[in-house]
Amino acid sequence: MQFFNSMSRGKEAFAPIEQGHVRMYTCGPTVYNFAHIGNFRAYTFEDILRRVLAFNGCAVTQVMNLTDVDDKTIRGAAAAGVPLKDFTAPFVAAFYDDLKTLNILPAEVYPAATDHVAEMIALVQRLFDKGLAYQSEDGSVYFSVAKFQGYGKLAHLDPKDLRMGARVADDEYEKEGYGDFALWKAWEASDGDVVWDSPWGRGRPGWHLECSAMAMKYLGDTFDIHTGGIDNLFPHHENEVAQTEGATGRPFVNLWMHCAHLRVNGEKMSKSLGNFYTLRDLLGKGYTGREIRYVLINGHYRQPLNFTFDALEAARSSLARIDECVDALTEEVRKFESSKVLKLGGATEWAESCKREFAKAVNDDLNIPEAFAALFALVRESNSALHRGVLKPEEAKAVLELFDEVDAVLGVVRFGRIAQGDAIPADIVALVEARAAARAAKQWAESDRLRDELAAKGWEVRDAKDGQKVKRM
Ligand code: AMP
Ligand code: ZN
Repeated sequence: MQFFNSMSRGKEAFAPIEQGHVRMYTCGPTVYNFAHIGNFRAYTFEDILRRVLAFNGCAVTQVMNLTDVDDKTIRGAAAAGVPLKDFTAPFVAAFYDDLKTLNILPAEVYPAATDHVAEMIALVQRLFDKGLAYQSEDGSVYFSVAKFQGYGKLAHLDPKDLRMGARVADDEYEKEGYGDFALWKAWEASDGDVVWDSPWGRGRPGWHLECSAMAMKYLGDTFDIHTGGIDNLFPHHENEVAQTEGATGRPFVNLWMHCAHLRVNGEKMSKSLGNFYTLRDLLGKGYTGREIRYVLINGHYRQPLNFTFDALEAARSSLARIDECVDALTEEVRKFESSKVLKLGGATEWAESCKREFAKAVNDDLNIPEAFAALFALVRESNSALHRGVLKPEEAKAVLELFDEVDAVLGVVRFGRIAQGDAIPADIVALVEARAAARAAKQWAESDRLRDELAAKGWEVRDAKDGQKVKRM
């Protein structure tokens, strides 16, 4: 695998610190509203990344934080006149629902900032001890950028732009004229009851501090990959590097990956510009999570992607082409399964070659457009072989398994179909049928063994009056 590292600005061969196990941190949502599909471009990119790592045999520990205290959530709670937690809770729940709708695999940990304030305070204390933090007259604590050697190495900042002695209290600000940033913000009337005690008086953590503290807690001082949208690179990720490396004296992250923006008419899709669609908006217009996922992943993650309804329509017809092919292959396998036991054969040479092309594409910095090209080559070749009647049933079965392998990365082929109950993989059907035969012959031990085998493959079987019912666990 090789990936583009935003720090070095080049592609690098990737190997995790611990062989076979990748630790990654993903900047999660600020839960002050429903996430829009621009945000989901970032989360689907990260989902593809973790699936590609798994495709290459790696276990993945992904941490995605929930920013549930910052300038925006506090403003939102105040405007709604409710406590902060009550304001953010429904958006957290909606976020998890949206992830499922888009077939985004769950992270291993979703730490909320408000549950980790003690860790944040401890990190600020370490920065004080190293002489990198100071308290200003207004009571807030700042990171002293000029005292940290290496500030600007991620965003490639020009030291000439540093405004010596200047301080920025806001979480977000521009590169030009950067200065010391807030670690701990002294309480202000507008914060209401959002406040914690600290050695520097009452206040609340800055946004950048939150991610450093939670990443270090769950992934250690140094870990493999840190991701986000490109707008996170500065100041957010630059400040994370400064805070963590300032405290530990060790490298923070080996590989920084950022996705380009989802755009609308050439502009970044964002809440502040008002040019956004939430996932719910699009579902309301009759598009499915599967179609939306297809659009979001079908571009190179480092290239801006323009959102259009035409793209959603094109996704719909592309998916229909894939579905027809998979259905025809499934049908071919079923015809034979009813009459004789199929031995799994090897896939044909063209299918193997599509798989090689697919692996090459995803392992080269997540080239999903090329991966789709390999998938459609598989569709074309399958259709042609079926049409000519030259595909042996065991080959059809092997090609179907290949679709499954490819889909472990893309998550659009089978997704949505199994949920509707219309496509149970052929090997699962075969096991269920074998179990029916065992039960008819009163071979209870064999029936139980087959149930266990199905469970090991992630399928639950239930015996009902009218036969066996099978569903994904
Ligand atoms: P936020 O909730 O604003 O902190 O953003 C959550 C994630 O979405 C971050 O990784 C952002 O970089 C990313 N993001 C925000 N807008 C876009 C966009 N238009 N395209 C791609 N990613 C975005
Ligand atoms: Zn973050």
